[in-house]
Amino acid sequence: MSKWEIVIGLETHAQLSTKSKMFSGASTAFGAAPNTQACAVDLALPGVLPVANVGAVERAIRFGLAVGATINTTSIFARKNYFYPDLPKGYQISQYEVPVVQGGSLTITTSAGQKTVRLTRAHLEEDAGKSLHEDFHGMTGIDLNRAGTPLLEIVTEPDMASAEEAVVYAKALHALVRWIGICDGNMQEGSFRCDANVSVRRSGEPLGTRCEIKNLNSFRFMEKAIEFEVHRQIELIEDGGKVVQETRLFDPDIGETRSMRSKEDAHDYRYFPDPDLPPLMIGDDWIARVQREMPELPAAMAARFIADYVLPAYDAEQLTASLAFARYFETATNIVGKANAKIVANWMLGELSAALNRHEIDIENAPISPQQLAALVTRVQDGTLSNKGGKEVFEALWQSGKDSKNDIDAVIAERSLQQISDEAALEKMVDDVLAQNPAIVAEVRAGKEKAFNSLVGQIMKASRGKANPSQVNVLLKKKL
Ligand code: ADP
Ligand code: MG
Repeated sequence: MSKWEIVIGLETHAQLSTKSKMFSGASTAFGAAPNTQACAVDLALPGVLPVANVGAVERAIRFGLAVGATINTTSIFARKNYFYPDLPKGYQISQYEVPVVQGGSLTITTSAGQKTVRLTRAHLEEDAGKSLHEDFHGMTGIDLNRAGTPLLEIVTEPDMASAEEAVVYAKALHALVRWIGICDGNMQEGSFRCDANVSVRRSGEPLGTRCEIKNLNSFRFMEKAIEFEVHRQIELIEDGGKVVQETRLFDPDIGETRSMRSKEDAHDYRYFPDPDLPPLMIGDDWIARVQREMPELPAAMAARFIADYVLPAYDAEQLTASLAFARYFETATNIVGKANAKIVANWMLGELSAALNRHEIDIENAPISPQQLAALVTRVQDGTLSNKGGKEVFEALWQSGKDSKNDIDAVIAERSLQQISDEAALEKMVDDVLAQNPAIVAEVRAGKEKAFNSLVGQIMKASRGKANPSQVNVLLKKKL
């Protein structure tokens, strides 16, 4: 029997980081008391009119340019009609036939190499309110604070062929929207939500019927949900059944997707242009300005890191995971010089990343500044600190915090971590150890490598780990 192929397309809702809503002046801040941030427009009171938020449109343009898409200079807001208690107008304002952003692509790197995922479109729309089913003694509460929040819905072609590819794409998109400053990417607060459309087919066959898994708000859940769904569909077909097009929900507690509702077709929504809003016109000069203000994008920056700092591709990619991380690297590297770039990268991808993960904080809040890391690297490079001593200083700086005036030389002195590099002092230690261990010395002279290492070990021990090991090696070789 021919092999199964997996087909996945993703729809992502990125909440745009504007202060006010898509069509009203109400605040978008997260966490306010229910229904305190819903104005007359969000509540759909009679006689109100929506006004498009320029900041949201500008963010859509920035996204389109970042993915090499076409920005439609005229696009249309449309009403998507459906009834739900958290949708007071009875329709959602979205874009249908002509979205603001069309086409474009995102290149991702998976374990199998590079792949380009084509984007179909990205359109502006408003979010709905929230239905709260818990803690209401069997009733449902409605919070309309979220109603009208600006979203950019980013739709891919069905180009992904595994759960891994879908997750890598979603992570790359997540990094990009944060990089260009259009979305805070906070998945717990719902600022970045993915729906996965999944189907399977035998090689060579046309596309199979898809199911849409809604509201995957973590990358781990996305991977699990897709894997479960693929297995479910294959088993269903192999048992002689048929996949029905439907919307499914992933239940993380049991690791399964289950049917939520049959999927509406577009015509069920009776889309039509919103007569309250004129066509969205975007002038070429506006697009040109946004292009001029575009920051260097992650792929370009990674390429520059490889070329300018002679870094391995892996390091360059890790360092450009976020703009803040990349800036930290460049700030530190500017201080210690290009020749030491790889050492800065090693500290950042090793010690610093581990500490950030362990304490679950972002680089923006790291208690060690790039200036301090640069000073640390300098002290390791000039031999003041051993690598081990460097790690101790790192830990001490981390504990004492960015704001403390703790300068690195003070920390080294306070903890007497200074490495012993003084020729005369080292020579004395070497001589002492040699005098105390005539038997081992004889073994070394007889060509036993292990014996040599044991002498190095003894000298390091005698210096309480502070002797400069490379100097000890040189001295020992000279003396033997
Ligand atoms: P809708 O309007 O119902 O959301 P679209 O045609 O816009 O449907 O497609 C939504 C998403 O589903 C897109 O990301 C698209 O790539 C994906 N998709 C479409 N057909 C398939 C399929 N057979 N298998 C997997 N994904 C699909
Ligand atoms: Mg859709």
